Amino acid sequence: MRRLLPRPLKAPLRWLSGRLPPLWRQSATVRRTARFIRQSEGWSEARLRAHQLARLQEIVRHASAHVPGYRQKFLAHGVDPAAIRSLADLPGLPCLTKDDLRAAPERYVADNIPRERLQLVVSGGTTGTPTGFYHIAGYNDDVARAFRLAMWSRIGYTPASRALDLTASFAPDRLRFAADARTLWVSIGALDPGQFPSIADTIRRFDPEFVIGFPSTATLLAQLLRETPVPALRVRGVITASEVMHEAQRRYIAEGFRCRILEWYGLAEYAGFAAGCESSDAYHFFPQAGTLELLDEADRPVTREGDEGEIVLTGFYNWATPFIRYRTGDRAVLGRGHCEACGRHYPLVERIAGRTQEFLVARTGRLVPGSALNVHSDLFHHVWTYQMRQDTPGEVDLCMVRKPSYAPAQTEVIRREMQAKLGPDMVLRIHFVEAIPRTPRGKHQFIAQTLPRPESGRHPSVEGDHASSSAREAKGARP
Ligand SMILES: [Zn+2]
Repeated sequence: MRRLLPRPLKAPLRWLSGRLPPLWRQSATVRRTARFIRQSEGWSEARLRAHQLARLQEIVRHASAHVPGYRQKFLAHGVDPAAIRSLADLPGLPCLTKDDLRAAPERYVADNIPRERLQLVVSGGTTGTPTGFYHIAGYNDDVARAFRLAMWSRIGYTPASRALDLTASFAPDRLRFAADARTLWVSIGALDPGQFPSIADTIRRFDPEFVIGFPSTATLLAQLLRETPVPALRVRGVITASEVMHEAQRRYIAEGFRCRILEWYGLAEYAGFAAGCESSDAYHFFPQAGTLELLDEADRPVTREGDEGEIVLTGFYNWATPFIRYRTGDRAVLGRGHCEACGRHYPLVERIAGRTQEFLVARTGRLVPGSALNVHSDLFHHVWTYQMRQDTPGEVDLCMVRKPSYAPAQTEVIRREMQAKLGPDMVLRIHFVEAIPRTPRGKHQFIAQTLPRPESGRHPSVEGDHASSSAREAKGARP
């Protein structure tokens, strides 16, 4: 709509809407949830825990009374939902896995929510085994929006901010403005050296204050800006989620935008939300949204700072498909106590270490985690993007999309360094490709492999399930 306005009107309108209260046009659920988050942010640990316990008892009672899958699980484990008297009783509850949901999604739907209020959400999918569950229509999306706004506001974002959104893989066209002209969606397909010069001017005129993307798309933009600089682009913050940020990506983004990078974590399930704060990059998990547990390989709680475990979440807001001790398949490193910098008594995670499937398998059965393949040098400087693919243990295909500046001699340098990281029991093949396919939700995978995790019976999905809610909103806003 903004594009149709005569030019002289644009500036005053932008001035005017920039001064409207930021929550002005949000729904009652968003405003109410945002108010609650604001009020509870400064609560003591004891008060937050008391709140968590009350919400936990509520959701467990609800699941036991109205969700057949849970009723059966609790019975099988001899769990009495009425016997939860403290948060210490939480580990006594059985976990919910993605396999549970895949095997019998209908058994995990509450029978007391009217059918027309159930909204089906399907996440994952590249493995051919998507996970389906339900949200309450018109409620859970708004709750998630309030948490997102609370996180993003820590670096100055408000609903009135101008944001360049790079999560829209579905966009058939290259650019699209949101109805309120506050968001400019750039389709992922347009983040391409051939297309970018033609959209650079629109981006400059839009003058984004924030870039919202996946680490891979924010990196692509940073790379493209290096080749086709857009003058006067003064971004205040880059907000990323949904993929693990690799070191090289962080460097590209930091150098490209020279501003704060806020990484946040959320799931399409909305079972938990976390992000850095005003001054720390550690993920602060909202205790208001649910409980966080990290479990080690033997399913014991990770309690020592710096140790890694699987993120297991219990969400307090989804009453359609409750998520109680939900195994996310994401791995994280436990942080220390609570954040001294901001004073919030939220559990901290130092970093999200990756998906449980982010590993390669050597011929000998040895596992090479994705983090071991992190490149800290400029090794891939002349490569747009790359991916390690594996279908057979001991064999890896490195696929690269070259920049025009790529010199043939670099192949040997890359082969040597990556072979050293992979180890001698892995055969490395290098391929040059035109493009690396993204997941159905537009995410880039550095490691795309189809092997089961050897020492575990679990089959984590390969596709990331982190919510890209802005992408969903974008989808919803399409005519
Ligand atoms: Zn903090």
